[in-house]
Amino acid sequence: MNNRNQRVEILDTLKSVLQGYINLGIIEVEHGAHSSNKTLLHELKNEILQCKKCPLYKGKKNYVFGEGAADASLMFVGEAPGYYEDIAGKPFVGKAGKLLTKIIEVMGLKREDVYIGNILKCRPPENRNPQEDEIETCFPYLDRQIEIIKPKVICALGKFAAQTLVKTNISISNLRGELFYYKGIKVVPTFHPSYLLRNPKGKRKTWEDMKLILKIIGRKVKNNG
Ligand code: URA
Repeated sequence: MNNRNQRVEILDTLKSVLQGYINLGIIEVEHGAHSSNKTLLHELKNEILQCKKCPLYKGKKNYVFGEGAADASLMFVGEAPGYYEDIAGKPFVGKAGKLLTKIIEVMGLKREDVYIGNILKCRPPENRNPQEDEIETCFPYLDRQIEIIKPKVICALGKFAAQTLVKTNISISNLRGELFYYKGIKVVPTFHPSYLLRNPKGKRKTWEDMKLILKIIGRKVKNNG
């Protein structure tokens, strides 16, 4: 056997030994950016699970970190966990969450295709509005989620998400319909699903916003809302 053939044989043996270790789970292989995003989100989640930066942690049942694809092109950002989210430790699982899921599906997507997070990670008492100091304290966590996921577009759900990301006091009715940027990432403000439950007429405008998002992420509009 010549030197080259010997080298090829050694490499083949090494390859099958490594593959065996991988199959047995003795060594783990990271698959590109997606896995490292997952790892980074996992580390950030563990950090948040220790958070005592504001008093909201005292009244919560669970921190609601966020969930979805670690490499999502579309990220939805809501305000704060409510009663059901606090119990489940997951974002948008109550009535408003069901409507958000429906909106995502009408867009031709699944919840697992997108990322869903909130400005606050803990439920404010009695679902009261987030306070300025709470937003200021908690927002850096969302900023890091955005930094890791690097979505193409963020859909800001309602006044608090939109005003925080756009850094303005303009009302949601005046913000929606316009395109903004957060650190170079497109931001599309729209009505919060809780508002839509009370004001179903707003769904038409929300659908216009979703069509803009679909255009940004390069997907065809299949439904007409
Ligand atoms: N409303 C929000 O803003 N976020 C949730 O996770 C649930 C309801």
